Amino acid sequence: MTKHAVVIAGGGPTGLMLAGELALAGVDVAIVERRASQDLAGSRAGGLHSRTIEVLDQRGIADRFLTQGKVMQIAGFAFNPLDISDFPTRHNYGLALWQESIERILAAWVDELKVPIHRGREVTGFAQDDTGVDVEVSDGRSFRAQYLVGCDGGRSLIRKKAGIDFPGWDPSVSYLIAEVEMTGEPALGIRHGDKGVNALGRLEDRKRVRVVLIEPDVRQGDEPILDELREALIAVYGTDFGVHNVTFLSRFTDTTRQAASYRERRVLLAGDAAHVHSPAGGQGLNIGVQDAVNLGWKLAQVVNGTSRESLLDTYQAERHPIGARVLKNTMAQTALTGRDERTAALRETVSGLLKMDEPRKRTAAMMSGLDIHYDLGTGHPLLGRRMPDLDVVTAGGPRRVFSLLHDARPVLLNLGEPGALNLAPWADRVQRVDARYAGVWDLPVFGAVAAPTAVLIRPDGHVAWVGDGTDQGLRDALTTWFGPPNHS
Ligand SMILES: Cc1cc2nc3c(=O)[nH]c(=O)nc-3n(C[C@H](O)[C@H](O)[C@H](O)COP(=O)(O)OP(=O)(O)OC[C@H]3O[C@@H](n4cnc5c(N)ncnc54)[C@H](O)[C@@H]3O)c2cc1C
Repeated sequence: MTKHAVVIAGGGPTGLMLAGELALAGVDVAIVERRASQDLAGSRAGGLHSRTIEVLDQRGIADRFLTQGKVMQIAGFAFNPLDISDFPTRHNYGLALWQESIERILAAWVDELKVPIHRGREVTGFAQDDTGVDVEVSDGRSFRAQYLVGCDGGRSLIRKKAGIDFPGWDPSVSYLIAEVEMTGEPALGIRHGDKGVNALGRLEDRKRVRVVLIEPDVRQGDEPILDELREALIAVYGTDFGVHNVTFLSRFTDTTRQAASYRERRVLLAGDAAHVHSPAGGQGLNIGVQDAVNLGWKLAQVVNGTSRESLLDTYQAERHPIGARVLKNTMAQTALTGRDERTAALRETVSGLLKMDEPRKRTAAMMSGLDIHYDLGTGHPLLGRRMPDLDVVTAGGPRRVFSLLHDARPVLLNLGEPGALNLAPWADRVQRVDARYAGVWDLPVFGAVAAPTAVLIRPDGHVAWVGDGTDQGLRDALTTWFGPPNHS
């Protein structure tokens, strides 16, 4: 039996990001992935939102994505485009990049970090006890791990075997998604139907067509057949355009469900394994990657013995509400796609609201993930929010704050008197950086906030403590997030 500190079931975007985070923290982690390679049948997610680009930037890998995709305004709500170019972030845009490319770049990073990926085999079961988890794999092998994380997608075997409930709503609509050739001239572009939007578009080879189509009735199962595609084309367009040579055909729905718990003792869930919803607004991959960035450092500290297991409760407390609001906003967007007169009137009202500045800013910040605010108590508005990527000046010269987070270690950024704030009992875990910053502190939606004298930044880029000229509360924050003081 091979031992690892953490085994991750599933090497999609969430599992890869989590593996990278754990490896950066020095954790012995391995991935078991069903697919033989990172190839992905068909196209799924089409891009990254601003906050996801930011978290990749915090690790120094955003450029790998930016150079392969197309920077553009991608945020939107129920087909109302939402421009974020006036938002106070270095990445005031999204990135159009297909999921397969995103996964390949993440896989290459994980490879550099020397994480073993056991490909072409799947986790078939597990048994957990007080000290660890025995993980069974389809090739007859088994692993012993301290923790098992299910990043194994919406039909997660890990979630089911852990007995975690998946409450929510059955689908109201099902879509076929396909890559095909057509002998006839396809009606390219978007066509609104009674229950939503259909789309035909040329693929990069200009020959094949990407089809996204509402089915006449709600169907389930991810292996539809060609006759069902023909039937759906005829129902929408009155013809099947001579569809043939189908290289990819799948189905997705607006099934909306969320794991009741993200942890069952030594088994955790992240990404689609923890939440599924309609692709409206392009959020699934993004929040999966952000789940991984929230969980990674916490799990690493528990595994490394720095923090108690209770730190893992904050993963559920912080990320479950984020998943829940994505479920809600996708349901709202689906409800707005109907073609009946009443829904059309509602859509018009919502579109009117979203043209106003405040609703646009709030909704765009939600869709792009820039407004995420973990409840870390009352105090300065920065507390629990994302640390802005300020240009600060350190003894070593100018630095971007995000560059201080590249190795996923916490940072105490001291902007007051150099040498102030005693960090000695945590110096093995937390870096102290003395710096100067004279500019404004501007947060998305919230606006300008009072300049703090210091901030304690967690490895995920969220602010855990804000200084106001004293060190009041700093010891508690350090203990809560990074373990008890070291008096040796
Ligand atoms: C049509 C469509 C469009 C979408 N568009 C967007 C978009 O624009 N933006 C966005 O953010 N999201 C979008 N999504 C959602 C996005 O694709 C998912 O949210 C994302 O893939 C979730 O990543 P994940 O790693 O959590 O799960 P997955 O990508 O499902 O990865 C799970 C991995 O686990 C593996 N696996 C499964 N079971 C096992 C097992 N037992 N053992 C080992 N391995 C296993 C699978 O092979 C897979 O590689 C879209 C989805 C669809 C269907």
